[in-house]
Amino acid sequence: MRGRESWPSDWIGSLRTSVARIVVVGGGTAGWLAACRIAAASNPAAEHPVEVTLIESPDIPTIGVGEGTWPTIRKTLERIGISESDFLVSCDASFKQGSRFDGWATGETGDSYYHPFVPPIGVDPRETIAAWRSSDMPFAEAVCAQPKVCALDLAPRQKAMPDYAGALNYAYHLDAAKLATLLTRHATQRLGVRHIRDHVTAVTMAENGDIASVTTRANGEVQGDLFLDCTGHAALLIGGQYGVPFLDRSGQLFNDRALAVQVPVDAESAIASQTIGTAHKAGWIWDIGLPTRRGVGCVYSSAHLSDEEASDELEAYIRRTAPEVAVADLSPRRLSFRSGHRELFWSHNCVAIGLSAGFLEPLEASAIVSIELSLDALIDNFPASRDAMHLHASRFNRLFSYRWDRVIDFLKLHYAISRRDEPYWREHREPGATPDRLRDLLRIWRDQPPSSFDFPEADEVFPAASYQYVLYGMGFPAPRGSALGRAPADQDTSVRQVRDRARALASALPTNREYLNVLRSAASLPIAEGISVQ
Ligand SMILES: Cc1cc2nc3c(=O)[nH]c(=O)nc-3n(C[C@H](O)[C@H](O)[C@H](O)COP(=O)(O)OP(=O)(O)OC[C@H]3O[C@@H](n4cnc5c(N)ncnc54)[C@H](O)[C@@H]3O)c2cc1C
Repeated sequence: MRGRESWPSDWIGSLRTSVARIVVVGGGTAGWLAACRIAAASNPAAEHPVEVTLIESPDIPTIGVGEGTWPTIRKTLERIGISESDFLVSCDASFKQGSRFDGWATGETGDSYYHPFVPPIGVDPRETIAAWRSSDMPFAEAVCAQPKVCALDLAPRQKAMPDYAGALNYAYHLDAAKLATLLTRHATQRLGVRHIRDHVTAVTMAENGDIASVTTRANGEVQGDLFLDCTGHAALLIGGQYGVPFLDRSGQLFNDRALAVQVPVDAESAIASQTIGTAHKAGWIWDIGLPTRRGVGCVYSSAHLSDEEASDELEAYIRRTAPEVAVADLSPRRLSFRSGHRELFWSHNCVAIGLSAGFLEPLEASAIVSIELSLDALIDNFPASRDAMHLHASRFNRLFSYRWDRVIDFLKLHYAISRRDEPYWREHREPGATPDRLRDLLRIWRDQPPSSFDFPEADEVFPAASYQYVLYGMGFPAPRGSALGRAPADQDTSVRQVRDRARALASALPTNREYLNVLRSAASLPIAEGISVQ
């Protein structure tokens, strides 16, 4: 075997500049998830073990919304080392098993469909379609047991199951501020993350164009090998320092405002198993059930709806769904955003994660999952030294350009196939407002169902199953089939199996309220916030 000394010197790791000092700027969901994930993955036996520092401005609050997650969050929390019950209790969290979309297809009475987290039955999507056709049920209910479990407000797991395991695939609804508090505590007390509460006022560059350090107002300079820009919409490093352009996608996704409010609930009220998204004339309303309150928000396009009209939409929704609540006592928060993302996400020794990388809109909770996927990619391909960083950067940029485009396709699908007739919805269907790839796929899907062939990457954010739920939930015609390949026989037995499984789950699972109240009583926590009655 060749001795170490005979290799070219730049092949030998110990002679290269290591990447060990990680500086996370920003203490929102993105910053704390990043700090926790990296610190939890650190190898204490490494020649240069990682040191993680998180700097968080006391002047700029976190965005404070972001209450719906994707099932990836279970793996993320497990990897960080947080127990599921600790998480559920500390973050006032509840279970999320998918979304229900009301009023998106036509806006008529009864227009409602589920996008559950469990994929449809059938290995080949044509089998799935055949099973659905053999029934007289809506697509999701025919091919998946989860909508029934959701309709009954049931939890996806029993208490005795191991942490993060369920009878059905699930994610959570949570209080974003409480998640940041839990992650702060865990990062600083258990994972050795250094926390600096200070405002970054300047950035010092090295000769090679890297960031050498950031300067804080009271704590001086903080040097690092790798900087994570988690500064939210400020995008202090990726935008402010590197000037990476922001690609505006508002020509495809029109929403740019939200009006968010917390609605009190009764201690015994049902907790919904899914996010409820209700379409209105120029956007939609999210409704997320936590044990202590509901988080409700009206998302809209300011070009199509005034702030006053949005406020009226929100008020009418709350009156309809919570007539016992005094609407006048609620204080909604207005948020603005611009739909789009950076042209690059990793430049020199700076990686943008979270809102600094981009934000499209709250639909389908695609933001926190993008943070998690960014962290997975960074940690799985963590640069051992500065030398190879540009190669990691270009692979990361390629992957995430692809992923942002796919998320845009999927979100746009919800608008592009709607048959609602208000100007906002009609404009969504104009040819220039739909990405080319989605337009082509919609043509192909008239003949065949979405399949993994259409989504070839490992870890697609939204797989073919998600497209099937939205397409057929919204009344897109079942595919015609081609001259090749015989259509599978109608599969009424599969539908019967789905129905049997739904029945078995219904008798075995507790309600969300039962599950969470037991957990919260054991932790001596209030079961719900006080409710003000009109
Ligand atoms: C209306 C709305 C609804 C949403 N709903 C969902 C949802 O249901 N599901 C989902 O997945 N996502 C949702 N999101 C997105 C989600 O809220 C964010 O992706 C998530 O909270 C991450 O935010 P962040 O950490 O990137 O930024 P922020 O929370 O904005 O944090 C930025 C941090 O940077 C710090 N900072 C800024 N400048 C400086 C400086 N100069 N020095 C030091 N620190 C600085 C701030 O102090 C703060 O700590 C929603 C977003 C909006 C707008």
